[in-house]
Amino acid sequence: MLQRAEPQDFERVLSSMCTVPHPSAREAAERFLATNPGDPGTYETIAGLEREAVEYLGDITGLSDPAGYVASGGTEANLQAIRIARNRADTDDPNVVAPVHAHFSFTKAADVLGVELRTAPAADYRVNMAAMAELVDEDTVCVVGVAGSTEYGYVDPIPAIADLAETVDALCHVDAAWGGFYLPFTDHDWHFGHADIDTMTIDPHKVGQAAVPAGGLLARDRTLLDELAVETPYLESTDQLTLTGTRSGAGVASAVAAMESLWPAGYRQQYETSMANADWLADQLSARGHDVVGPELPLVAADLSMPMTDELRDRGWRVSKTGAGEMRVVCMPHVTRSMLRSFVADLDWY
Ligand code: PLP
Repeated sequence: MLQRAEPQDFERVLSSMCTVPHPSAREAAERFLATNPGDPGTYETIAGLEREAVEYLGDITGLSDPAGYVASGGTEANLQAIRIARNRADTDDPNVVAPVHAHFSFTKAADVLGVELRTAPAADYRVNMAAMAELVDEDTVCVVGVAGSTEYGYVDPIPAIADLAETVDALCHVDAAWGGFYLPFTDHDWHFGHADIDTMTIDPHKVGQAAVPAGGLLARDRTLLDELAVETPYLESTDQLTLTGTRSGAGVASAVAAMESLWPAGYRQQYETSMANADWLADQLSARGHDVVGPELPLVAADLSMPMTDELRDRGWRVSKTGAGEMRVVCMPHVTRSMLRSFVADLDWY
């Protein structure tokens, strides 16, 4: 037994966007650990499960005939979405327009793909549409909206972003990597049924309660994914559109198992519990005189200083901070009310 393993109990983890996998997801991950969906001709069962995963993700995101695959995570899915947009466009000088709060994976994508990343400022934690409109031009290949931002859990005005993308014949990509399994139970306009969205990131290994690695890339239709296809001469299949080659089937199988167990009733219940927890924490922090941002989705940011969070860390708590220095608590499925009660009690201690 490896002695250096991190404790996996998540007992005091308030900073992570990953969570304890659902028991069925854990079991499926172990069973399919050594399979390779990158070689579907050889590993047919896991390839079939990947199609099932995409069907579930389509259901969750309002897409009746979904195309896509289970990526290694949100970073790969975002990068691949930008790659689709770049490859499809007819320009030598491509740019992507995204909100300033877009996840740093877009910076990586822009670097790797040789695309300019233009970031639009936010107003009240959502992208400022007037500023975004100023940044698009005929070389814009993709306009990005975030549905559940990493730092604050806010949702951009996705229909307006999709309309803006259309004015310059760019693709609209929505990053719902974290928010995608909470949003179906809200009244936000965020998915394929609400706006003319072309591609989306939605990660089973976050709120979906699958084991890592299980990210999701979805496309409105298969022709968009064709932009990613490379020929695979020595495999039984003829082409591959994932970024990674060999990849573990653990994430794929666990994503199906989690969604089979939880969609929709289990995820709805989780949303209601996590949102109630976030509201409770926000009330507790406000009552102690802190300025709280949100919660719009189950994520609470508040103006506690970083020395305070260092002290909390010494007591075993894992909390992170936003770029502006606020303490940030992500109410993932493993974050319970009793955990938050002891967290608040520890805050009171200082
Ligand atoms: N997009 C959003 C909105 C995220 O919050 C994250 C990670 O937290 C990512 C993308 C990147 O996902 P991953 O870390 O799985 O690559």
